[in-house]
Amino acid sequence: MTHAAGVSQQKARRPVITVAGLSKTYLGAVDEAVQELSFAVNEGETLALLGPSGCGKTTTLRLLAGFEAPDAGEVRIRDAVVASATAWVPPERRGLGMVFQQFALFPHLTVRQNVAYGLRGRGRAEKAERVREMLELVSMTEFGERYPHALSGGQQQRAALARALAPRPSVVLMDEPFASLDAGLRSQTRREVKAILTRTGATAIMVTHDQEEAFALADRILVMRAGRQEQLNTPDNIYHRPATRFVAGFVGQADFLPVEVQDNAVVTELGRFGYEGSPPEGAVEMMLRPDDVEICDDGPGEGVVLDREFKRAYNRYSLRLDSGATVRSVTPAMGVYHAGDRVRLRLRPVHVVLFPR
Ligand code: ADP
Ligand code: MG
Repeated sequence: MTHAAGVSQQKARRPVITVAGLSKTYLGAVDEAVQELSFAVNEGETLALLGPSGCGKTTTLRLLAGFEAPDAGEVRIRDAVVASATAWVPPERRGLGMVFQQFALFPHLTVRQNVAYGLRGRGRAEKAERVREMLELVSMTEFGERYPHALSGGQQQRAALARALAPRPSVVLMDEPFASLDAGLRSQTRREVKAILTRTGATAIMVTHDQEEAFALADRILVMRAGRQEQLNTPDNIYHRPATRFVAGFVGQADFLPVEVQDNAVVTELGRFGYEGSPPEGAVEMMLRPDDVEICDDGPGEGVVLDREFKRAYNRYSLRLDSGATVRSVTPAMGVYHAGDRVRLRLRPVHVVLFPR
């Protein structure tokens, strides 16, 4: 087994899957399901495809797997073109592992038999050893003889992952792998799956419409909208440096404050901030996350409290500024302000993000 340290050193080196200009329109459909996607997933990396329902995530995964053929573009796995105008490698010869809803565990096979299923053709001893290793990896050793119906949702998910990883696939593809689990089990299973992927150094592509899931699991996130890619970056950059308003709003709460750009600064009604780079043309707004806006407890100021949402560990306030703009602020739950209170605000943006107004 590869050690985690070794894996992270290899990370972000060799691309395992490369997609270029991938497009697909379903027969009879007006809109393209996927348009001109181009991205690469590196050895040992987990990429999340994130976007609202219907934006083309599953279609992308099916194009990678070979269940759909692209209208344009190509898919490469390591150095081999597996789909293009002139090349085609069928799904079973792409060496991919899959955790899709439609590939749920076979109900008539035990966990052990399910995991062994992907190892057909190997020697008996090798097969037994690999199954043992995989069950141990997903902490399912004592469940090997159980049938899927006698497992919890999280156990089924771990068994499905063991089955997908057993043949040592180049990449494991997962379509909404946690969607059927309830909230508590979901975050636990998510942590377990992440640990398993890290421990094995597996390369993975996961589809989800759940921002939290993408942020918890992925090394990089590809945000999609209406078949197109909006942004591909690390979770931190997706959150703090969203490339578009859509990304800004989809991955977290965002408010927008009109600003004036002067030389290397932006001037807002809540202060002035350094800004490097070229701002958008024309009227400009600055994005604020609720964690960028701090309520100072030193007397009245520029904001009027509109309402408070009690989020247990913290409060989230909506505030109106003198200009009429509204912003939100999260503050620890200790100090409580009430609707109508006038408070002083301080901005501490991690990074100044500007959009055209
Ligand atoms: P997501 O997984 O992001 O929810 P999908 O890839 O399933 O999105 O779907 C993308 C678009 O393609 C949607 O508009 C959907 O209705 C359409 N679509 C998906 N599968 C098919 C199909 N087999 N035939 C026709 N249209 C489809
Ligand atoms: Mg889908």
